[in-house]
Formats: sequence, C-alpha cells, structure tokens
Amino acid sequence: METTYYTDIILPLPLHRLFTYEVPEEWINMVEIGMRVVVPFGKKKYYSGIVYALHDQKPEAYETKQIISILDNAPVVSETQLHFWKWIAEYYMCTLGEVYKAALPSGLKLESETKVHYNSNWVAKEKLSAKESLVLDFLSEKKTASVQDINNITELKSSLPVIKSLLDKEALFVSERLKDGYKPKTKKLLQLAPDYCREQKLQNVFTELARAPKQLEVLMLFLTLIGGAHESNYSKAIDKNLVKEKSGVSTSVLSELIKKGILLEVETAISRLQTDALTTDGLHELNPAQQNAKQKITELFQEKDAVLLHGVTSSGKTEIYIHLIKEQIDKGKQVLYLLPEIALTTQITSRLKKVFGNQIGIYHSKYSDAERVEVWNDILHKKNYKVVIGVRSSIFLPFDKLGFIIVDEEHENTYKQFDPSPRYHARDAAMVLAHLHKAKVLMGTATPSIETYRNTQLGKYGLVELNERFEGIKMPQIITVNVREEQRKKKMHSHFSATLIDHVTKAIEQGEQAILFQNRRGFSPYLECTQCSWVPKCDYCDVSLTYHKHINQLVCHYCGHSCYLPKTCKACGSPSLQTKGFGTEKIEEDIKIIFPDIKVARMDLDTSRTRRSHENIIGSFERGEVDVLIGTQMISKGLDFDNVSVVGILNADSMLNYPDFRAFERSFQMMAQVGGRAGRKHKQGTVILQTSNPDNPVILNVINNNYKNQYQSELAERELFKYPPFYRLIHLTIKHKNPNTVHQASDYFGQYLRGLFNERVVVPRHLPSARYRTGISVKSCSRSKEVYLSIK
Ligand code: ADP
Ligand code: ZN
Ligand code: ZN
Repeated sequence: METTYYTDIILPLPLHRLFTYEVPEEWINMVEIGMRVVVPFGKKKYYSGIVYALHDQKPEAYETKQIISILDNAPVVSETQLHFWKWIAEYYMCTLGEVYKAALPSGLKLESETKVHYNSNWVAKEKLSAKESLVLDFLSEKKTASVQDINNITELKSSLPVIKSLLDKEALFVSERLKDGYKPKTKKLLQLAPDYCREQKLQNVFTELARAPKQLEVLMLFLTLIGGAHESNYSKAIDKNLVKEKSGVSTSVLSELIKKGILLEVETAISRLQTDALTTDGLHELNPAQQNAKQKITELFQEKDAVLLHGVTSSGKTEIYIHLIKEQIDKGKQVLYLLPEIALTTQITSRLKKVFGNQIGIYHSKYSDAERVEVWNDILHKKNYKVVIGVRSSIFLPFDKLGFIIVDEEHENTYKQFDPSPRYHARDAAMVLAHLHKAKVLMGTATPSIETYRNTQLGKYGLVELNERFEGIKMPQIITVNVREEQRKKKMHSHFSATLIDHVTKAIEQGEQAILFQNRRGFSPYLECTQCSWVPKCDYCDVSLTYHKHINQLVCHYCGHSCYLPKTCKACGSPSLQTKGFGTEKIEEDIKIIFPDIKVARMDLDTSRTRRSHENIIGSFERGEVDVLIGTQMISKGLDFDNVSVVGILNADSMLNYPDFRAFERSFQMMAQVGGRAGRKHKQGTVILQTSNPDNPVILNVINNNYKNQYQSELAERELFKYPPFYRLIHLTIKHKNPNTVHQASDYFGQYLRGLFNERVVVPRHLPSARYRTGISVKSCSRSKEVYLSIK
C-alpha cells in the first residue's frame, strides 16, 4: 500500500495549532524540516510557512490540501531554532505562528499581502524564465504590487516561488515598514554601453575621441580595468570612483563619456554591512583587575552556565568581553552580543570593529529589512560573521555554532518585548538559547537587576565583581541639591540650581562637556488651569497630555494621539492654562537662554527617530562639537564619552514617585548609570543631583555607590509586599471602548478572582493609594484597566 506523506506547517498567523498539508509524491525527498513552503489557506490566501514536522498521519478532522511549492533547497530555520520557538511559544503563551512572525525578517516571510517593489537599478546577468519575465515586466511598469496582485496577473496559483527567485536575483525587493529616510548605501559603477559592445563600434569611438585625448585616455584605462577590450569583458562593471582615482581626471571628463552614451552609469546597492576592510588593532592588554575578573569568569563557566559581571561604570567590562569574544572566535564559535538599545550599538560596533573587522554583523530594526536578511543568510550559509551585535530580536538568528552570549546592561527593561506577542524577555530567553547550544552566558552591568543578583546569591549564576574604574579614576563625586530649599531661598533659575549652573559654567570654561538628564521628553508633562486645576487629558487613554513646544501640540505619550492646545479651560472656561513640570525640550530652551554662546544637543525619542540622527548626535558630542547634551534615559546607559566632567540629574523625584513596584530599583539604576557618564577618563567627575527629598534612601545609596544596600532593602520590601522575585506576577489588562464597561468588568472579574485566590489578587479597588511605592500601578486609562494577580 502506498503511504502518503504529510507535513505540519507553521503559518504566520495567531492560530493555536499547526496545519497539516499533504506533500506531493515527487517532492517527498525534497522537503525538509525548517524549509519554507507555500500553502493555500482559506479561500484565496497563500502563505509561506515553515515545515515543522514530517509524518504519515492523516489528520482526522479535515481534508488536507497539498503544498504548492518549496521555496528553499535548504532549511532557513534549524531544528534547534524550532525547539527554541517552541519554548518561547509555551513560556510566553503565544502561538508558533507569532514567534515565526517575530523571528524572521520580512524578506524571508512572503504572504499574500506582502508588497514587492521593482529594483530599477537592476541589470540582468542571466536569462530569466518565462514566468520571471512576466512578473518583472508587470512590475517594471507598476513599480509596486502585492503578492496577491501578481498572482492575479500571472494567473499562477501562487507566484511566491517566482517572486522568491526574483528576490534572490535582487530584481525585486520586499517593502519594509517605513525606515525614516534610511536609504541603502549605493555605489556608482561604469559599464560599456550596450551599443558599443562590438569591436567595430569601439574602433570608431577611438577615432572619434582622437580630438579629446583625456576622454580617450579614460576609456582606455576603463578597458584595461575590465581586463582588456575583449567581448567576454564587455559586460563587466567597474567602480566609478576607482576609474576616477586611477585616471586622475576631473569628474567632467567622465561625465562627457557618459553623456555621449559610451559609458553607462549604473547605481548598485553595496553590501550594507560590510564596510571596507578595516585595519584592525590588536586587543588592549587587560590590567590586573580585569585579568583577574576574566580568569574568574572562565573558572566559573566550568560549573555554571551563566555569570554576572558586576562592574562599576567604566571599570572596563567591555574590554573583558572583547578578550572573551576573541577566545570564542579562535575556537571557531559564534558569539551573540546583546545590547538593550539601538543607541548603544554605534559605539560598541566601532570598538569591536577595530579588533574584529568584518567578522562583526549588526542586527536591529533601524537597519533595513534587506540588511537583516543579509545577516540572516550570512549566518546560515556564508558564515563570515563570527560576532553579531544586536538588540533583542537577534536571539532569533540561525546560529549553529553559538558558543557565547553577552547580555550587556542586563538590567535594562528594553530587553522585554511588550507588544505584540511573543512578549519575551531577551535576557531570559538567551539563557534558554544558550542551553540549547551548550553555550555560556555572561551578563554585565554596574547596576544588576534584583532578579539576576538574587540568582547569584542563590548560586544559580556565578558572580564576578569589578569595583574599580579603569586606571583608578575615582567614582564621580555626587552633590545633592535640595531644590525645595533653593526655591525658598530664591536661588533657582528656572529648573537649575545655582550649584548646577556653576559646575556647568566651570566645565565649559575648561573645555569640558556636560550631560543634563531629565527622564521626560517634550516641553512640559502637563498643562493645568490656574483657576480650577483642570488638566487636559487624552480622549482615548485618560492620561495627561504632554506639551511639545516645537510642534505646538499636546501629545499623548501613551497612544501617540496629538491635538492643539485648548484656548480655554474646558472645565471653567478660564483662559489661564499653565505649563507644569518640565521635559527635555524645556531644558534645552532654558539652557540656551542661560548659556547663549554654547552648543547644545538634545537626545530623546523625538530627536533620534532614525539611525542617522542618533548617530549624528552621539558623533558630534564625541567630537566635542557640542558642549551640553540633554537627554532622557537614552543617554544614561553604556555610552562612553571621554570629556564629560559634569552630569546634572534635574529631577530625581519624578523617577522615585513613579507608580510601579520597580520604581526604586529603576531610579537607582538610572541615577547610577547616568552619573557613571561623568569623568570616565583622566579625572574624577561630578554629578549634581537635584531633589526635594535628599534623605531618600535610594538617593543615599546612589551617593554612596552602595549597590548591596540598595539590593537588600529592595529585596526585603519585595518579600513583604509579595512582589517578584518571591512571587510571580500575572498582569491582566481589560479593555473596552466604553469606560463604564471596563470599570464594571474589571470590578466583576477582580471580585471573582478574589473569590478564588483571596488576597493574592490585587484588584484596582483595593489599592493602597497613599503608598505609591508598594501600590500597584493601575493605568488611569479609561479604555483599559489592569488587575494584578500574584502567585507564589
Ligand atoms: P565599562 O564597559 O565597564 O563601562 P569600558 O570597557 O567602556 O568600561 O572602559 C572604560 C574606558 O576605559 C574605555 O574608554 C576603554 O577603552 C578604556 N579601557 C578599559 N580597559 C582598558 C584596557 N585594558 N586598556 C586600554 N583601555 C581600556
Ligand atoms: Zn479651569
Ligand atoms: Zn492616548
């Protein structure tokens, strides 16, 4: 009896099961786990799915359809990756389809809705099939079309295989979400125009150009560069700059040849990730403290899978990573270097490139999809990249020889993906990934998260400490300024204390730089009516709107909704609305008034939406073109600037009062980290910390650089008030467009859960409202309400 073969396919959909398809007999030996295949789904849809399993079990419940085509001749996803996906789906309660969607760059997951574009710079190098020509003709006219449109015109059941092959040839590319003006890097090439690709024609040109000797010279040089005036070389293209350089002529001479139609100029995308071979420096020699730390890490890896390197800011952790990476590369292993934020990749990349050159791949969302596909394929096939520097999504890359994962700034909450599913934490997922590869994980930070530090105390992770800054530079001196007192004495200029202004002035006089930190973007966090205290709120979220002066609008930082300023109070009609509190935009404005002659830059979400813009801000600050850098938490982490002697923390209170159980932990981290930007090289720096509560224990711990004290008091509180890491917290959000329905439903559901789990359920009603610190954050959002459930 004949056996029919089936395959279970992961579709890029949030469906809680896999679908089984039949494998046509002639393909049985071609389909492998991890390949992409095209399958029909529903009435008219086609998806590229991933082969998850192969078997001969006919599904009982439904008639199977056949797979339509196989897109790959080798798996694009390994079985190890599929195990990893499965773990993620189970642990973070989502579907494999959702993991698939998050894991692969768009260029590798074609769907009916995917938009493809014609690459107008493309030059044919080989003959196209009839189907390919059909699709390309259509697109060369339309420029852009969806996969569905292409199905229609080609009358193919599914055009995905044809599209895929045109993508491989780079004749098409897949649309990406808008990349904020990011353009792929291109290079201009010169080619002999098709008309002149004949012996006879060329001869004529030589004669014609006799009167333009410079042009003739360039043409001859060009012909030499392509390997001689021979038919087999005519289609070769040469870098325009190279021709220019070698010939030493001006651009106009080349332009003439192009204008005459003898040479053809084509623009081509150059490999965006591989810059020209960099001269590589050797490793820096580690100092004894670093050497000792590295030694201990290596020893601990004998028995532990993970180690925490707790080293104060600027103790030289990154240099230790570099040495450890080198050892892995020498062993033929791959390394994943995780960073919490794109902003950090620039500096780390250039530091690592100096040592490892082009063995470094970079993977994050500010790169175009094409670049991400390039990294993916390199790791899968070419294997040039030995080290990948990336943000959280790089845990999904198809590593096969992963030996080592670095989780830098492990405490950062940007490692956690909030929306959409899978809501994974990259640090925790990295542990599982490492386990699957039998690799080791090194976490590094100056301010460990409570969870990770506790794991070292419980013996789950190893712990290595580095308590001194590199070259013995002292930790910055922290001066607290009581702003309430200063206000009383009328010594505040706007939001700046006299102490802060003095220090900034001195720094600038000495040619040094300053950083001013305020963890709030925009101009002022809210407006208030001076008569009745009414505050404008978002129509959709009920949170107060932030005033952004440069666009003169109110913006909701929760949902992005923006609107013009009301002219009068909507409650009492009074025209006197006042800005309250201050954000980075306001600080920038004030600083420019106080110091009219200096250069100021601001780095927050509003000024650094594109990769270029934040690279520019960091770059100009590094080069000393900017004296004062103002920013949100974006500037607090990891950045290494040589010449910063003063850091101002403008308002410590807003961080401490944030309604979340991690508020104190975060405040400590932020203050210690941003303070750590001061005085990294050459000499001790100063931090001016403005607060109206100088005796707050968190502030005292920051001043004394006492992490352990901070950890211990935090841990005691967490246990007392039933928070992680002692309890697990389940967080439910209830949403509806009608606020009353939300209130009713959350009350009802909260009471119901209370009936089952008693006081473990913290319903919105039972908020200990006075104690922010231990209080549960209930977003004051009319469309959604949150209920926490803590379970031991
Ligand atoms: P961390 O990662 O702990 O904040 P870094 O590795 O950035 O510290 O080191 C701080 C500064 O000291 C950097 O500018 C780095 O280049 C320099 N540095 C650290 N260790 C060495 C070393 N062994 N040799 C030379 N320079 C070093
Ligand atoms: Zn009013
Ligand atoms: Zn809103």
